Amino acid sequence: DVRVRFAPSPTGQIHIGNIRTALFNYLFAKKNNGTFILRIEDTDRERSTSEFEEVIHREMDWLGLEWDEGVKVGGNHGPYRQMERLDIYQEYVEQLLDKGLAYYCYCTTEELDEMREEQRQKGQPPRYTGKCRCLGQDERDKLEAEGRRPVVRFKVPDEEKELIVDDLIRGRVSFSSEVIDDFVIVKSDGIPTYNFAVVVDDYLMKISHVIRGEDHLSNTPKQQLLYEALGWEAPNFAHLSMILGTDKSKLSKRSGEAYVYVSEYRKKGYLPEALINFLSLLGWSPEDEEEILSKEDIIKQFSIERVNKSAAVFDVEKLNWMNGMYIRAAELNQIVELAKPYILEAGYDLSDKSEEWIGLLIDTVRGSLNYLAEITDHLDIFFGELEYTDKEKAVEDFKQDKVDIVFETLKENILALETLDPQEIKKMLKKTLKELPVGGRLFYHPTRFALTGKGSGPELYNVIALLGKEECANRLDKALS
Ligand code: GLU
Repeated sequence: DVRVRFAPSPTGQIHIGNIRTALFNYLFAKKNNGTFILRIEDTDRERSTSEFEEVIHREMDWLGLEWDEGVKVGGNHGPYRQMERLDIYQEYVEQLLDKGLAYYCYCTTEELDEMREEQRQKGQPPRYTGKCRCLGQDERDKLEAEGRRPVVRFKVPDEEKELIVDDLIRGRVSFSSEVIDDFVIVKSDGIPTYNFAVVVDDYLMKISHVIRGEDHLSNTPKQQLLYEALGWEAPNFAHLSMILGTDKSKLSKRSGEAYVYVSEYRKKGYLPEALINFLSLLGWSPEDEEEILSKEDIIKQFSIERVNKSAAVFDVEKLNWMNGMYIRAAELNQIVELAKPYILEAGYDLSDKSEEWIGLLIDTVRGSLNYLAEITDHLDIFFGELEYTDKEKAVEDFKQDKVDIVFETLKENILALETLDPQEIKKMLKKTLKELPVGGRLFYHPTRFALTGKGSGPELYNVIALLGKEECANRLDKALS
């Protein structure tokens, strides 16, 4: 049975790299009729909050990454918050202590610093020397009487020389055991460390494949040693490459171009379907290189074998292109619902507008959007006083020979319209052009300037329908005055 998990720590906004990890786990589960589990790793008491856990739920809900088992939905392998599993960890720590595979360590921070400093001076890599490995009960009692609170360290087997991680994406990765010292598995406050809790949880939750970021690759040999010590079979591991900006630097808060948090994409009005599509292509590609893919398409074609081990580049321009495609292809109703709040937020008054008018407005401008928040850059021509953005060019156009005939004829034809149906208006424009003593350019170009104040923009028949007869007539008059 395929069982995978996304195991975020609720310590902040969700980074785009993290949600890509969630997505790949989700896709792998769906592809293999497996189970996708959401586990909350909240052992960092200082930084974890329930608000940030809510953030995780919200962004996953928004993206449609439903989990089958985990916090909120429950399941047979819970609880799914690590802080609710402390007695479970305790049981396994005791097992390791009893078998002599772990030990209490009383070294203070100062002592550890001293140890490292000595090693540094000798040119040795910093590692715990194993000083407390062989403390007897008397020595422990003495240290406890001094008020010291111990941590528990894992006794890294001395004989291991080379540790191999067989990674589904990266192949065999070898680590020298010298880089691994007796690491802490329980902190002095009794709370397990990440490496220990994750092993216990992944085992008890019967995780078959651990799919996570490359930043955890160096933890994996430690975790494998713990599996061995506990007598458990380790799951399969797959480490996803990092996501870089187009300048090849790590995608961090400082990357100028791309946002790093999922919430920012949601707030800017990226469509979840587009973001899923885009993220799925960060490090994975379908066989036929097709780029626009629905979630169902992706699930059908997804495989770990096709996940690339080299770093994935986050190209915002590509995301914008893709999101624009989704905005144009979506049901108008959906876009109207999503776009309206941006329009209202920017202070445009829609109270006297019909639903039909609002729909046409949004349909008229959605063609030029990368994301919905941009819609407010395209609305001025439909609200309030007209302004010519390129006044000189407009005036030049208005001085054209015969422009008065053009505007007068058009005005009459607009005022004679029986409906404001864009298709009717389109016909009317064609008919007007035929009546005029000028060609297409000398008709459409000055007209566009007169009605919108700009040299380019949405279809004129939509513009006329949105402005209405009176306003069009006013604007044509204004151009002539
Ligand atoms: N809580 C860890 C993180 O957010 C999980 C790592 C893992 O998947 O093992 O990085």
